[in-house]
Amino acid sequence: MKPVCVLGNGQLGRMLRQAGEPLGIAVYPVGLDAEPESVPFHHAVITAEIERWPETALTRELAEHAAFVNRDIFPRLADRLTQKQLLDSLQLPTAPWQLLASAQEWPGVFSRLGELAIVKRRVGGYDGRGQWRLRHDTAATLPQECYGECIVEQGIAFSGEVSMVGARSTDGHCVFYPLTHNLHEEGILRASVALPQPDARMQQQAETMLAAIMNALGYVGVMAMECFIVGDRLLINELAPRVHNSGHWTQNGASISQFELHLRAILDLPLPKPVIDAPSVMINLIGTDVNSAWLALPLVHLHWYDKEVRPGRKVGHLNLTHSDRTQLQHTLQSLVPLLPEAYHSGLQWAQATL
Ligand code: ATP
Ligand code: MG
Repeated sequence: MKPVCVLGNGQLGRMLRQAGEPLGIAVYPVGLDAEPESVPFHHAVITAEIERWPETALTRELAEHAAFVNRDIFPRLADRLTQKQLLDSLQLPTAPWQLLASAQEWPGVFSRLGELAIVKRRVGGYDGRGQWRLRHDTAATLPQECYGECIVEQGIAFSGEVSMVGARSTDGHCVFYPLTHNLHEEGILRASVALPQPDARMQQQAETMLAAIMNALGYVGVMAMECFIVGDRLLINELAPRVHNSGHWTQNGASISQFELHLRAILDLPLPKPVIDAPSVMINLIGTDVNSAWLALPLVHLHWYDKEVRPGRKVGHLNLTHSDRTQLQHTLQSLVPLLPEAYHSGLQWAQATL
């Protein structure tokens, strides 16, 4: 098997490496400031766990490399402006939006988009950072440097959030996981729930939209599409050209995880539809120290990233999978005293969503 180099050495690269191990695929996550000579990319397939990167000796080298899968797609999706333009050109539904070029645009923005405006940095935001929720009376608080560098969207009163994780092979064949229900708090993903029998119409809608996007781009590998549920329609929130936090449950809840699926797609290996026969829950561990008491619960799979624990930082996740929902609900209830209070709403939400 060809080795794989991953641009970026965070947890996604780590989990890609773990997925490659049993298949005999050597995966090398590389930090952006690594010496190009130390990276075995000459005979490798190159992928990325991040969407944009600064220019370094290594990224200059890799950016030129023909074996960098989806190389020219990253910059297009990493900028929210060009990402939204792509979705518009495919006539796919998103929150109404526009570029925010200057402060003079505010009256027009509120009359066009409604009373709640969500301003997002075009590049570089994540986990809700680089985002402002503004109304008439607070619009003036937006830092001056944001103008031209941000888009503004209508604040959507959604009934829920879901994501579709899928993969496309080099010959254009696409496979998908069931829709994942996601709970975000303050812009950061707290918990996900995936059911083996998703709502058939929503599933179809999401598969059709993500297939259209991947086909239009000629994309290869795993892509995630985050959506808002509004009535019985999905609005696309954003796309991630990589494995995604909301797909982490597939490590324990699917016959092929999103990490293995991505490796298979970029290495041109068989890409059957992953089989899912039980509900799954993923609880993100955010700024919380590891606690071995979690392991006393037999359904808990701990994935710890071995990063320094800092407030607001994703440091691991817990996956739970079982065919009997009540067993999952009991385990979630048992986790309540073992996790800080900030987790309680997420644990409750997951129990109710199952
Ligand atoms: P991620 O960590 O997923 O990359 P992000 O910081 O890039 O997140 P978004 O996914 O755009 O940002 O937004 C984070 C969350 O903020 C969304 O999941 C949603 O809960 C809320 N949000 C974003 N845009 C809107 C909107 N237009 N209307 C209502 N809520 C929104
Ligand atoms: Mg998001």
